[in-house]
Amino acid sequence: MSRLYIVGFGAGNYEGMTIAAERAISESSLIVGYTVYAELMKKYFPEKRYEVTAMTKERDRVILALERAQNETVSLICSGDSGIYGMAGLALELAENYPEVDIEIVPGVTAAVSGAAVLGAPLTHDFAVISLSDLLTPWEKIEKRLMLAAEADFTVVLYNPSSKNRADYLARACDIMLRHKSPVTVCGYVKNIGRDGEESHILTLSELRDTPVDMFTTVFVGNSETKAIGGRMVTPRGYRNV
Ligand code: SAH
Repeated sequence: MSRLYIVGFGAGNYEGMTIAAERAISESSLIVGYTVYAELMKKYFPEKRYEVTAMTKERDRVILALERAQNETVSLICSGDSGIYGMAGLALELAENYPEVDIEIVPGVTAAVSGAAVLGAPLTHDFAVISLSDLLTPWEKIEKRLMLAAEADFTVVLYNPSSKNRADYLARACDIMLRHKSPVTVCGYVKNIGRDGEESHILTLSELRDTPVDMFTTVFVGNSETKAIGGRMVTPRGYRNV
């Protein structure tokens, strides 16, 4: 049986990969992925063959990987975790047409987790993860999730906070959350986690509202207990006597 690994390689630095991800890529002769991610992996696995597709061509990328996996071991690579806004689901759906290909999902450290470690400990209590991309989700649904997560006092992690066509989405998301969260809620964002140019900032929700961020950024909005301690973002676990 031929094999296709759907690999989440973490933030992008070699140390941030799991041993299983490193093994899956090492075992594969061909790596398929989005151009930027293939470039990242070429640094660590220069001897592999690579086939790349544009960012929006997810379906084509998965089909390419499934086709190639009929004849050789292939890794389809995603940043972070392959099942969190990644291609694992699509791969399993499309794999129905390729019964001879054995698919293995290899988990990775998602941006919420690697970014949280850069900021401090913002996710020590309940949190919600919401993508601001409305390419695959209607904006009304995103608004509803933001509003209810804010009302329920979750710490909120925002993926895909911006893109060329959605420059004001983070401001819109902050306005919605400001209906239930205080303007001085402690927030943070991390750009290029584990990659060249990594940058992190801690600020209030009202400051975040007016901050431009790019698509390589993950945003953290604290809950009502979240504090800034010595330049770190910290959400208490909730133990009263600590
Ligand atoms: N599967 C990925 C998420 C893909 S969605 C994961 O599990 O992390 C793409 C979004 O993820 C980006 O817009 C950004 O919000 C976040 N992201 C992924 N990698 C990142 C990194 N290295 N630094 C900052 N944000 C990142």
